[in-house]
Amino acid sequence: MVCDVSTKVLPPPAPEPLAPLIDAHTHLDACGARDADDVAAILDRAGAVGVQAVVTIADDLAAARWAAAAAGWDDRVYAAVGLHPTRADALDDAARAELETLAAEPRVVAVGETGMDLYWPGRLDGCADPATQVEAFAWHIDLAKRLGKPLMIHNRDADAAVLDVLRAEGAPETVIFHCFSSGPEMARSCADAGWYLSLSGTVSFRNARELRAAAPLIPADQLLVETDAPFLTPHPYRGARNEPYCLPYTVRALAELLDRPAGDVAADSSANARRVYNLTY
Ligand SMILES: [Zn+2]
Ligand SMILES: [Zn+2]
Repeated sequence: MVCDVSTKVLPPPAPEPLAPLIDAHTHLDACGARDADDVAAILDRAGAVGVQAVVTIADDLAAARWAAAAAGWDDRVYAAVGLHPTRADALDDAARAELETLAAEPRVVAVGETGMDLYWPGRLDGCADPATQVEAFAWHIDLAKRLGKPLMIHNRDADAAVLDVLRAEGAPETVIFHCFSSGPEMARSCADAGWYLSLSGTVSFRNARELRAAAPLIPADQLLVETDAPFLTPHPYRGARNEPYCLPYTVRALAELLDRPAGDVAADSSANARRVYNLTY
């Protein structure tokens, strides 16, 4: 994600524990972690409220190197590597070669985040244009297929474009839409295709009407949950700094929306995460 995170607001208090949970998409480096001690401290805070493992995501090459290393520092951390669609301009031959090597590492459990972002072009200096994003997305799809690893998709204001590229290239066996924020029609298309939809704090936002109408359409065995920390802090702490320990807030808001026990949503989503990422812990 590319967005502003306030550093002036106090961090949210620790939620009531809810276990077992797996944070399917987070950015430990953007949460401020530099070394193994920092990573352990974040995972200790998460573990204290039931978040047992996280997948930390890279959005550029330096972050990819860091994420793959972090997955080796701590048993509770796995990684995904790729170039964020807004940074698709950086996908030169050297970047491709390095990403291929990193993505093949055993604790790198997905390729991404990749996909399409039609919000930032024209708003963010240096953001890759849509045509460049399509080309990079296609390359990541091919890499995921060759490695037999899940594809982690970032989709911002780009439902039709993402589906077009997936159809044109042929989707890999396992596809995850991270921070799924679209409406019912897109949820149905993805669910019918057998793809996984990962919900973030946005599902707890009262004004996210389309998403809140879509969430009940996600089959229980295709649902993941994530923080996308340090971004998208769940209600009522919107605007504060997010971290994996905040995941129970999102899952409780989702459970209320689905009218299901929070423990069941936690158990389903973590079983799905274990299966989809082939987690070994
Ligand atoms: Zn992200
Ligand atoms: Zn994203």
